[in-house]
Amino acid sequence: MELKPRHVVVVRGMQGLGDNIYQRPVVRWLSTQYPGGVYLKTPWPQLYQDMPLVRCLPVNSTLRTQSKNIARSRSLYAAAARAVMTRYGRQEVVTTEYRLAYSHPVDVAVPIYQSLQQSVGMKSPYHLALGEPATSRRKIIVIRPGTVRTEWMASARNPKQEYVQAAIDFFNSQGFETIVVADMAPMLEVYASFRPLGASTYYENGELSVTEVIELVRSAHGVVSGVGFMVPLCQAVGTPAVILHGGAGGYNSPWCITAPSAIALHHVLPRPYCLCRDYLHNCHKIIDPLTPSRPIRFPISNPHKPLPLNPLPPDPVSYQ
Ligand SMILES: [Zn+2]
Repeated sequence: MELKPRHVVVVRGMQGLGDNIYQRPVVRWLSTQYPGGVYLKTPWPQLYQDMPLVRCLPVNSTLRTQSKNIARSRSLYAAAARAVMTRYGRQEVVTTEYRLAYSHPVDVAVPIYQSLQQSVGMKSPYHLALGEPATSRRKIIVIRPGTVRTEWMASARNPKQEYVQAAIDFFNSQGFETIVVADMAPMLEVYASFRPLGASTYYENGELSVTEVIELVRSAHGVVSGVGFMVPLCQAVGTPAVILHGGAGGYNSPWCITAPSAIALHHVLPRPYCLCRDYLHNCHKIIDPLTPSRPIRFPISNPHKPLPLNPLPPDPVSYQ
């Protein structure tokens, strides 16, 4: 019996949680280009449950947070993995493989979403939505502190932890519940410089699943975070956020990390802002040395004045 070849599309996705939120529109677009659907290698299958044509495959990740989520997600993988193995086993497949990655040319910065679109030739608009924004919000502020991981050192982009502390103090004084979210592990991931004090609740040891973090952020009045997965997540669920920047602006500038449809991000930058691409550079991180007691404006504190729609910030040359 002669078997007809089947066209299997395998997408080798990126591994980080934030990367997976950024790549969702591209994966969704790919799934519309191939009627048979796509197989996506990802540590975060929870993020693709709204895409019926996307079947997730586990990856061999050595990174702690990713491998923990893969282990938690067995039931989301099993059927898809079996289907692909059957097809490979019969030798009846024509495979197209895409590898998603950011391109970082040496001399020019490219916004993350554009570089992802370019990597697969996606021409249609990029919409970074993950479900619907909340219709009512709880009086909580989610705080994402600066941490340092031994497996992937990127301390240059962290803001000074003093500013995270200032955010906790400020929102406490305004009657908000402040909730710290992190995934610490002794010797593997620790607070950058010090543990911020005084928050109402600490989920600092990975107590929350990725789904719980997403729903917490969706229901929150606002988020305060450095550069990391909270940036695409807040854009995707429409939760206002103050993003405290450190350095390494060559990869992490507002211009690089903001999607065109993003709402309600308020970027706070050091001046001057270091546009290096060195994950470990000793970047200048002081945001406003003239008012050390209350250096940062937190515009998400007033529920009656939501942040306006945020057009793409100016490109990096204007940051100095
Ligand atoms: Zn730097």
